Formats: sequence, structure tokens, C-alpha cells
Amino acid sequence: MPESTTERLIASAEAHSARTYHPLPVVVATADGAWMTDVEGRRYLDLLAGYSALNFGHGNRRLIEAARAQLERVTLTSRAFHHDRFAEFCVRLAELCGMESVLPMNTGTEAVETAVKTARKWGYRVKGVPDGRARIVVASDNFHGRTTTLISFSTDPGARADFGPYTPGFDIVPYGDAAAVRAAITDETVAVLLEPVQGEAGVRVPPPGYLAAVREATRERNVLFVADEIQSGLGRTGRTFACEHEGVVPDVYVLGKALGGGIVPVSAVVSSREVLGVFRPGEHGSTFGGNPLACAVALEVIAMLRSGEFQLRAAELGEHLHRELGLLAGAGRVTDVRGLGLWAGIDIAPAYGTGRDVSEKLMDRGVLVKDTHGATLRIAPPLVIGKEDLDWGLAQLRAVLEA
Ligand code: PLP
Repeated sequence: MPESTTERLIASAEAHSARTYHPLPVVVATADGAWMTDVEGRRYLDLLAGYSALNFGHGNRRLIEAARAQLERVTLTSRAFHHDRFAEFCVRLAELCGMESVLPMNTGTEAVETAVKTARKWGYRVKGVPDGRARIVVASDNFHGRTTTLISFSTDPGARADFGPYTPGFDIVPYGDAAAVRAAITDETVAVLLEPVQGEAGVRVPPPGYLAAVREATRERNVLFVADEIQSGLGRTGRTFACEHEGVVPDVYVLGKALGGGIVPVSAVVSSREVLGVFRPGEHGSTFGGNPLACAVALEVIAMLRSGEFQLRAAELGEHLHRELGLLAGAGRVTDVRGLGLWAGIDIAPAYGTGRDVSEKLMDRGVLVKDTHGATLRIAPPLVIGKEDLDWGLAQLRAVLEA
């Protein structure tokens, strides 16, 4: 049999790129809304949405138009000069977050790194922690990115092994245990850094009261509560921020993924003037951070979120999704279903195969999802997905698990 275009492109990619991923054997050529089409013309329902970077779907017209208009004007100035989209972006994003000040970056990883630097500097300059002693409390099973500092406090051997020496200054406590957070805070603690819902860990929702208790402990001890909402934020859970489910406002939001509308990488640290005011010119930066194209796309994302329609849609469709997945769990094929809004982690019963096995079978039926940590499937459709399409995708999952 002659080699297909798919086989040829995958073989070439494998021969000429570092194998840091193990993608499903599909080669996407075009996409629209919640659907992708591969190089052979086969269509797939996207139930991953770029790990929530595509909350507004592929090729969203409003976002494409915003990008196109900006492409014709100016795309990059560097921060050496001002540009005419920057102020509005910062004002609008701060407003969306109920905060005052924005430090734009590009990827989520960079934004978390920036938050770590922000917290340390705030600790030395405002809190009065002795130089070089600042500590940050983090949670087990976290995922905040891939730099040497961020993997230094990962508990995933796959993310950490062979990349030492590791950056000191982090205290890891069990996720979901607010008493452990409280006990880990010392006079040298400058921040508690958490995902309000752990995405990569398999969409783990903490026990009720956790975020509120962390808020209380951090306030009492004059420690910054840094919420990494890169994956959980911007509509995914049915609210603008996952922290809202507990009525919590952290000191610092870390945002990324959907902020770039699935078009360009846009991330940001958002906080008060006091906290972000610790920086002086030359102490932190990025050539691309806050560029005109990024600001134009993100401004449209923010405008879309301001209407509340995407949050409502995620909440309503999410309720439906969890009801349907609950039925699967009842049938014994699935050992656990977790999630919030249009976001779910499904643990597959070992008798039905691994998460990867199920992902491959779903791919054969025209549905794209991704496994995590062996037995877990992550479902995070674009928030624009139609209910019928979602139901069709769930029917494929049911069929795979029943086979
Ligand atoms: N933080 C969280 C919670 C994430 O889920 C991710 C990516 O999955 C990151 C940080 C890193 O973002 P990026 O891949 O854009 O660097």
C-alpha cells in the first residue's frame, strides 16, 4: 500500500523534531468552530480545544477580524516604544479581573515565572523578608509550566527527572488540603501559588471551602495568593475565573491560553498597583509581551467575556456534560468523573483500556481528546460547541466504552 499523506507527514515530523510529545496520529489541515479536518479530508470533533486555548473555537470570526485588522496596522513595536493598543488592553484586562495593573507576557509558563519573580520581589521590598530567603507554597500534582524553576516544584517525575539542579525556595503541600497550606506558611513565605482547578492533573476540583480557606490563611499571614487560572480561567468553568465559584479574589491572577484567542500566545500577570509596582524599568521584560497584535486579539477576547455569554454557555452545557458523564460512571466503565463547567476529567476503568487506548478509538470515530496520567481522559470542548455536536461526541465515547 502506498504511504498516505498522514503517514508521510508524521514520519517526517518524527524524523526531524524532538520527541517531546506523543500526538495522536492525525494531521490537521483546517479547522472551524469545534471541528477540525485532517489532510485526508476526514472531520473530527475537537473535545480538547488546545488545552483551553481555543475556548472561542477555531477560526472565530470576531477574533480573526480583530487580528486581521491589526495585521494591517502594526504588529510589533517591542516595549521600547508605546503603541496605541497597549493602554486599552491593560485597562480592560485589569477591569475584567477586578484589579489594577497588568504585566503582559506571551506563554503561560512565562507568566507563572513572572508571578514567581513578582512574589519574591514583593516579599523583599514590601513584606520585608530577608534577602534570598523568600519561599513559595505550592501544591502537589501541580502543572505550571516547563522551565527549570517551574519543574523544580513539580511532583511529576516525567516533568522533573534529568533536569536538575533544581531551583530552591518552594514548599510542596498536598493539593486540596488547606490546613497543610496554613501549616507550611512561615514568616519567609511570600506567596501561595495554586491552580484553582488542577488541569493537567486530570481536572481535579478541590474540596469545597479550600480556596476560601487558602484566601483566609494568606490574608492573615500577609502572603500573596497567586491563582494560576491559565487553564481554568476565561470562561471554562462557567465563570470568568474558577476562583469565583468560592467567592474568592486572589491577590494575583496568572492568565494565558484563551487570552490569545487561539491565534497568538498572550499571557499576563494581573494584580494591584502595590504588587506589580515593585518592578522598575529593566528588571523584567519580553520582546513580544504586550505586542500590538496580541493586545488587539486579547481585547476582543475580553470584550467577548464581558458579555457573559460564554460563561453562561459553559455553565449550561457543562451541567449537561456532567449529567451525561455521570450516567457513564454509573455503568462501571468509568471509575471517576470530575470537573466544573465545560471541563471534565474521566478516569477509565482499567478493563476498558488506558486513556490513550480510548483516545485512539475515539479518533477512529471522529472525536479528538487527549489522555493524561495514564487512565484519565480530559474533555474541554470549545465553549462554542453545539449541544448536538457535544451529544454526538459523548455518544462516540459511550460506543467506545461499550465495545
Ligand atoms: N499553568 C497551567 C495551569 C497550565 O495548564 C499550563 C499549560 O498547560 C501552563 C501554566 C503553561 O502554559 P504554556 O504551555 O502556555 O506555557
